[in-house]
Amino acid sequence: MVLEVENFHGVYLLFCTNPKYKGRTYIGYTVDPRRRVTQHNKGSKYGGARRTSGKGPWDMVLIVYGFPSDIAALRFEWAWQHPNKSRRLKHVTAKKSSEKAYDYRLRVMANMLSTSPWCRLPLTVQWLKQEYRKDFPVDLQPPSHIPIGYGPIRSKKVKKQTEKEEETIPGLDDLPSISSSQSSRCEVCIKKMKPGEATVECVYPHCGVKSHMICLAKLFLHNEPSQLIPVEGTCPRCKGTSRWGDLIRKKQGCYADLVREITENEDFASHWAEELHV
Ligand SMILES: [Zn+2]
Ligand SMILES: [Zn+2]
Repeated sequence: MVLEVENFHGVYLLFCTNPKYKGRTYIGYTVDPRRRVTQHNKGSKYGGARRTSGKGPWDMVLIVYGFPSDIAALRFEWAWQHPNKSRRLKHVTAKKSSEKAYDYRLRVMANMLSTSPWCRLPLTVQWLKQEYRKDFPVDLQPPSHIPIGYGPIRSKKVKKQTEKEEETIPGLDDLPSISSSQSSRCEVCIKKMKPGEATVECVYPHCGVKSHMICLAKLFLHNEPSQLIPVEGTCPRCKGTSRWGDLIRKKQGCYADLVREITENEDFASHWAEELHV
């Protein structure tokens, strides 16, 4: 079964299987992993990178996805490629001469997933080829909200205003359903939501309750008040757990504009704080 993901921004790792160049790796960013690996293998004439051109075949081994924007993914890509230049990865020791390039890439990635700001993003690590899979070191397990998946993946274009399919949560059927006209009050502060106010909607289709973005963010951050961006929390109505990033994905348009405004040197987190007026 191929997993389909909407609004796909992924950073992938290629492994060279050509005996002449065997063991080489390549890190890149894509919105379409299937097309991208084909380009790499066809060569630079077909859109493949120059560094990989003519050295194939390459296997796409793993992809980290769930970045809220191309900018967030490109920053992850850059830091993964240049861990020694990234100020966030000073704690990652340099590649040992005995260490294989592939193992080093995985070690850097494992470190990144435990490092701010990436440890707070709603990411997923997907192993695309079983034979390359390696366990994360015990002391570098990714945070609990970053799942590790297995198998092929396909990016999917999102239709405007189409809600993504969600699993049915048992026990939610007996909750009263709320029509949009009735849900004009924020679920958290109970105040009426005015036009222009930033709101978020519960990701569970059976619930769909709306809240002010700032109200829900504060609720989600209840146990970690020093943080600016929530990672995940519980819906005040249906009690379903959702990742903050998935709530934001639901209102993608607004979020995309926000992210594009981020300048190169600004912190991802501090910008979010502005949006939330924290
Ligand atoms: Zn509110
Ligand atoms: Zn809910």
